Amino acid sequence: MKLSLVVPCYNEEDTIEKFYEAVKGAFINHIKEYELIFVNDGSRDQTLHKLHQIYNKKEKNIKVVSFSRNFGKEAAMFAGLKQAIGEYVTIIDADLQQRPEVVVKMVEILDEKPEIDCVAAYQEERKEGKVLSFFKNSFYKLINKMAEVDFVSGASDFRTFRQPVNQAIQNMTEYNRFSKGIFSWVGFEVFYMPYEVQEREGGTSKWSFVKLFHYALDGIMAFTTAPLKIAVSLGGILSFGSVVYFIVYLLDYLLNRHEMSQMELIIGIILLLCGLQLLVLGIIGEYLAKLYIEGKNRPIYIAKEILSYSDENEEKKDDQ
Ligand code: UDP
Ligand code: MG
Repeated sequence: MKLSLVVPCYNEEDTIEKFYEAVKGAFINHIKEYELIFVNDGSRDQTLHKLHQIYNKKEKNIKVVSFSRNFGKEAAMFAGLKQAIGEYVTIIDADLQQRPEVVVKMVEILDEKPEIDCVAAYQEERKEGKVLSFFKNSFYKLINKMAEVDFVSGASDFRTFRQPVNQAIQNMTEYNRFSKGIFSWVGFEVFYMPYEVQEREGGTSKWSFVKLFHYALDGIMAFTTAPLKIAVSLGGILSFGSVVYFIVYLLDYLLNRHEMSQMELIIGIILLLCGLQLLVLGIIGEYLAKLYIEGKNRPIYIAKEILSYSDENEEKKDDQ
């Protein structure tokens, strides 16, 4: 199998058939062997019915996974990737905002360049409103400052990668998934390809501003524990401040015989205690952060290739 297309679908009754036809049309002279893996993410419209219609055509390259309820696009992608057996795997939306013709180009790049493992499409220019673009760009600036891995602004989930990359992604079994982070966390050689996002073929976007905001928070929480460090820094600054405060008053007393009033003493003590409390909280937070990362059960490393003098080790190649 040359290529697996993973298609998350949530309330896409208007676009599924158009998508299916568009893929067939685009691939006909280019990609012979491919499978389509539709994941119905608990749609409340006729999406599942449409998917059954396509499946019943018995073209032998369709898989349909149907969720019991809406679990979100991240879960849908993960479920689809688990079914993907192609040499290459593509994640693509069902709404034709991402054209199947681009997938053909991605496959060509992977064919021509063995050193590349993943071709990721990115939007050079955001077609959204200015406000949303501003928030998205600010989010990327913030998360790139805090997280260890790089997040490329404008890059989407629309990408084609080799099977070993798919295996690596599947080894990330964390529940709170943030695929942009997962893609950069697993590493590999990524080729960024500019593309133009099309208008939706039908239906509406499933992302409201609030949903996007929560998603962005998920991303920050999943890939950095930097916010927990704020408590340590703040506690440190406060405690240090209170020590300075007392030293200043001590000097004032020694030099000018100026005695500290009760109020001034209380302020100093509060400052000191608050600082110490925050510091201790921050230290607990640091342990919590370690636990949190461990709890994700991420692989310790991902080996792209293991060369060995003995052929018997061949099968172990893609494992970590
Ligand atoms: N999607 C999904 N589950 C959800 C939300 C969206 O599977 O809970 C799918 C949706 O059907 C589409 C893709 O994810 O194929 C992208 O969603 P959408 O087009 O709404 O996002 P946008 O393009 O507006 O960012
Ligand atoms: Mg869309």
